Amino acid sequence: MVIKTFSSAVEGFQGAKVQIEAISLNALPNIYMTGLPGEVVKESRERVIACLVNLGFDIPTSKILVHLSPANIKKTGSHYDLAIALAVLSAESRMLQCNLSKTGFLGELSLDGTLRPVRGALPLIEVLVADPTIQIVIIPKGNTREGSILKSEKIRVAETIEQVLLFLREQDTLETCPALAYQTAKVKNNIFDQVRGQTIAKRAVQIALAGRHHLLLVGKPGVGKSMISSAAVELLPPLCHEEFIEVMKVYSSSAVETDSFIETKQRPYRSPHHTISSSALLGGGGGTLWPGEISLAHHGVLFLDEFPEFRRDAIEGLREPLQSGVLHLNRIGKSASFPARMTLIAAMNPCPCGMLSTRDNRCRCSPEKKAQYRKKLSTPILDRIGLMVNMSEQNLGLERPSDIDFSTVRESIEYAFEKQAHRYKKLPGIFGNGMVPNCRNLEDFHLDHKSEDWLKVKQKEFGLSLRRIGQLINIARTIADVERKENISLDHVLESWGLRCFDFYQPS
Ligand SMILES: [Zn+2]
Repeated sequence: MVIKTFSSAVEGFQGAKVQIEAISLNALPNIYMTGLPGEVVKESRERVIACLVNLGFDIPTSKILVHLSPANIKKTGSHYDLAIALAVLSAESRMLQCNLSKTGFLGELSLDGTLRPVRGALPLIEVLVADPTIQIVIIPKGNTREGSILKSEKIRVAETIEQVLLFLREQDTLETCPALAYQTAKVKNNIFDQVRGQTIAKRAVQIALAGRHHLLLVGKPGVGKSMISSAAVELLPPLCHEEFIEVMKVYSSSAVETDSFIETKQRPYRSPHHTISSSALLGGGGGTLWPGEISLAHHGVLFLDEFPEFRRDAIEGLREPLQSGVLHLNRIGKSASFPARMTLIAAMNPCPCGMLSTRDNRCRCSPEKKAQYRKKLSTPILDRIGLMVNMSEQNLGLERPSDIDFSTVRESIEYAFEKQAHRYKKLPGIFGNGMVPNCRNLEDFHLDHKSEDWLKVKQKEFGLSLRRIGQLINIARTIADVERKENISLDHVLESWGLRCFDFYQPS
């Protein structure tokens, strides 16, 4: 008789169900494995035999073939142990007589029968929970937190294989996962209000965060670029449940600690140093594909200080994720996709020495040096950044009244998030105005005649691309949202235009 049971595999960010079949054959006793098992899975055979023998089972007494399907997915990791051990025991039918075909198992076996937690468990559990044919998913106790995040009645936790056997024989029960208690994140020191002046930069941060638009802050050292960016995470509302699961899935497949925002559902804020390698920034790795900083900032903020100083390949690698919110990785025959729908806040000096200014210019850089510095940011990268603010110049004629304080901004962002959640509820993968590719097709994005005419004039004057026009309208939509206006008007389009100063990256 063929025994069937289930476990799961993960490729990058997405999980896939894996069926485990075992059959006992009349031949010399041994266990054979087929179905593209990786090295660690092949070793599972030894762990399973040692563990079961240690528990007093006399196995194998026949030739047992274990097949993992679909065969085209490479199975890596030690979490198949539990499912394989139970399939083997069941194939030797006198040892375990129960139906395993509606149960999924995850867990590495220690030789004494303890179940060890699985790294990257969240997508693995999720795929089993989401499958309607699977009624129970048994996971190691060490993965209780991932089980709790998914809030499913199907999940049970076990500490040892013996507990699992008692459960399968209906001699004992297994615990479910407790609900997680979330707390509201406390605002620690209100950094946003500590930045004096800089009302345009504050406004740009408000718009960037509210609509998920990318922002470049340019300014002399010490002008408050880092400070204003580090305030971002406190300005954002907590993750909704759907976003929280996505973020946790990314973190689950990395080695990064998650305690801080598991309790509060606070959005991630990542600020890697400019010496970071491109694979650490974008994702990659050797045997396993790891998410990079851009994915760890998914649904949150990625702050890149000294932006032009990052490695060229790292900066250029941002093109795809800045545009689509996803990064496709191909490394040594492996491919995977990781989500990266973050808001980029990049910061840079106006020139290498940092002192270039239209007022009080004390710059000591040669024209060549300045040109070289600015060339580090290519046009395709700058095209993807809809908001650019020069923090060194105060006389832009765009100064806003000082009502731009922390509480007002936070409330406006929260309101804009609610509006956008409602607007995009039928558009999967779109969470904010900055992520809309064809805004003209959407009802809320209609412009009045004045705005249309104004845009036509600017398009002609500057030869603006369709991408730039779309970007201007998307940002105008966010401005209307934070202002609690139903329609986009010319004021919003004008402010959207004013929040991207073109000139600073032209050598002067
Ligand atoms: Zn300079």
